[in-house]
Amino acid sequence: MKKYIFNFKSEVSNKINLSKNILGGKGANLSEMGRMGLPVPPGFTISTEVCELFYKNKRKINHKILGEIDKELKNIEKDTGKKFGDLNNPLLVSVRSGARVSMPGMMDTILNLGLNDETVHALANRTSNMRFAKDSYRRFIQMYSNVVLGVENYNFEELIENYKLTKGVLLDTELDENDWDGLIRDFKNIVKKKTNQEFPQNVREQLFGAISAVFLSWESHRAKVYRKLNQIPSEWGTAVNVQSMVFGNMGNDCATGVVFTRNPSNGNHQIYGEYLINAQGEDVVAGTRTPQHITKKARIASNESLPSMEESMPIVYKELKKILHKLEKHYKDMQDVEFTVENKKLWMLQTRSGKRTAKSAVKIAVDMVKENLISKKEAVLRVEPNSLDTLLHPTLDEKSNIEIIAKGLPASPGAASGKVVFTSDDAERLNASMQNTILVRVETSPEDIHGMHAAKGILTARGGMTSHAAVVARGMGRPCVSGSSEIEIDYEKKLFKVQDREIKEGDLITIDGSTGRIILGEVKTVKPEISGEFSKLMNWADNYRKLKIRTNSETPLDSKTARDFGAEGIGLCRTEHMFFDEERILSVREMILSKTKDDRLLALSKLLPHQKKDFIDIFKIMNGLPVTVRLLDPPLHEFLPRTDKEIGEVASSLNIPIKELKVRITELHEQNPMLGVESEKKIKLNFLVGTMIELPRAAIKANDIAKHAEFFSFGTNDLTQTTFGISRDDSGKFLNDYIENKIFDIDPFVSIDEGVGDLIEIASEKGRMQNKKIKLGICGEHGGDPKSIELCAKIGLNYVSCSPYRVPVARLAAAQAQLKK
Ligand code: ADP
Ligand code: MG
Repeated sequence: MKKYIFNFKSEVSNKINLSKNILGGKGANLSEMGRMGLPVPPGFTISTEVCELFYKNKRKINHKILGEIDKELKNIEKDTGKKFGDLNNPLLVSVRSGARVSMPGMMDTILNLGLNDETVHALANRTSNMRFAKDSYRRFIQMYSNVVLGVENYNFEELIENYKLTKGVLLDTELDENDWDGLIRDFKNIVKKKTNQEFPQNVREQLFGAISAVFLSWESHRAKVYRKLNQIPSEWGTAVNVQSMVFGNMGNDCATGVVFTRNPSNGNHQIYGEYLINAQGEDVVAGTRTPQHITKKARIASNESLPSMEESMPIVYKELKKILHKLEKHYKDMQDVEFTVENKKLWMLQTRSGKRTAKSAVKIAVDMVKENLISKKEAVLRVEPNSLDTLLHPTLDEKSNIEIIAKGLPASPGAASGKVVFTSDDAERLNASMQNTILVRVETSPEDIHGMHAAKGILTARGGMTSHAAVVARGMGRPCVSGSSEIEIDYEKKLFKVQDREIKEGDLITIDGSTGRIILGEVKTVKPEISGEFSKLMNWADNYRKLKIRTNSETPLDSKTARDFGAEGIGLCRTEHMFFDEERILSVREMILSKTKDDRLLALSKLLPHQKKDFIDIFKIMNGLPVTVRLLDPPLHEFLPRTDKEIGEVASSLNIPIKELKVRITELHEQNPMLGVESEKKIKLNFLVGTMIELPRAAIKANDIAKHAEFFSFGTNDLTQTTFGISRDDSGKFLNDYIENKIFDIDPFVSIDEGVGDLIEIASEKGRMQNKKIKLGICGEHGGDPKSIELCAKIGLNYVSCSPYRVPVARLAAAQAQLKK
């Protein structure tokens, strides 16, 4: 029979080098750590293929596989000397989901599985710790009922809160074994009431219930949303890990924690993490207790008094540090590690490549080259081009008036301003009408993914640097301030209180995820610069890429920005855009509307000095680099006055009756734009004449055009519209539905569609056949999209042209495209 279940120590996984595709990310890394000789609690992985079989088999696990699982369970029993469901020395396990890539939408881990009304006493006897046993049991009932039986968590939380109120205590740790005993009874009653059945006492039923729940969660709403946002195929399926429990909640020589081998926020080469003494599982990230620092240095830097792990458990800390070093050397990447300490013994529960900010990604990649861990090529390939966007976003202008109302943790860098909203749905709703929001939550959960995506920034009142909000925000590149205990949120009244102020829904605030500041109102921002590690990585990238990167710019300011970001010329300078300035547009209007040649020349003479000066400035800034100027191709009506006030102004400046002006406006609306303005100076200039290609016919007949054109600039926005026969302006109404229902794989206005790509390729071939020296490039928003850039590199274009702030993204993407070729 084919192998579907793999022990963490299995030689088989070693031999056939099982990939994450089969074992899932968590499973693959657990078995790899096992083989490295690290302390991993015994367990096994049920492969992703079983997930597929599960769905084929009417959502049931087939008998043969059930038998295999029983067999592997026996192996854990042998390794641990414990027995599943035993009344003397019971084995408890965790059931953990694990897709190929870590997915916040998946089932929550179930801990302490194997406890029931009887084994709980055996556990108490074995450990001589009744409180611990009862606490573990109530946690298990809570998790299992929530995740497998669908009883909502607040039911249990409410019972605990009420109980604490009656008893007059604040913390869970102040509840004793009798308290938990009472709560266990209440928990079971709630389960019975909500599900019409007793909480399962049969441990095998518990186990298979939990495994099925993992598979079912693959098709949950949460998981589907996450897959869509991150382009994860639904065929992948998830693996399930069953692992013997180790306990971080057995007393004060126990702990559980999360640690990164380097700082995920700024990339500093120092371990960074949080832990809690006498705690279990998700306590650290749940935000219910404030976690403590791992290192002494970090504790001092953040002015905390509670001891770091380095101070409270020095021996275990040293061992942890050694293991982290080993893991990084092995994986050659920054690791995000989960561990538990049971009675002073360290256990490794997970390792994976750590999510990090763009800043940290760049620093780590460059540092690892210096440390001889990776090559320059690898470093260039390591950084996701789109993520650079966050480094290029403006930061707060410290010179402007900043009124700080509170502080929190700098969880994900960048500054963002927006209206305060308290629900993810509100963030999504306002985003749809182009309004910037800051999502303010006590803490976030996987249900908030869509809101976090829609908001410009995230602010939470609880949770540390590794809380859900912090981790997800860093992954998405959203600025985030977490754990601001100074703010007090009232969801019902839709406001939060801070000091003696009330900030209501819709009020404008700014958060600075780099420093943790929360600021009243909107704050001015300044342009960042490329220096240090960032510029080093960019230089390496430039050595690998063949595509030139130009920018689309019509103003000296944009041209300067683009040059500073490394643009190698201007791919598209739309002359008509030079006139959008308020002062200039009036002259343009006069020019268009003038009836006689003299009037027209008069209006033109007013425009001339402006345009001349801009061109001189732009050419100076570009200092010999190519500048593609698109001659005036005015959609005339775009320049004409629209409102009565504007019409009045133009009429009086032209000295004609309003009525007459309106007639002229209607006439021009019908008229097709003309092309071309000739130069009359008799100087020999070195320039090329080319054309934009924006129509399928032009692409197909490119050989004819190439007889006259020295370059093609593909206007991919319009080419996409004309190829599909859809207008971008109203495609918003149906495009999302098309993508959601897989009619389109991608949004063709974000990444160049295959068909449009073929047209570009045909035009390029035909153009080159006619004129070997023809220069080819694209302009438009696709020029800054890594996927489209990869396509352009494949077709062998000469350059892409994108907006100034996308230039570094394009430089890196072009290098990666070349390296992946
Ligand atoms: P996630 O995918 O959300 O990280 P995990 O499966 O890693 O979920 O489980 C979350 C936490 O549960 C772990 O970080 C660890 O603290 C705890 N946990 C999981 N399995 C065990 C185990 N066998 N023993 C002790 N704690 C465990
Ligand atoms: Mg984990």
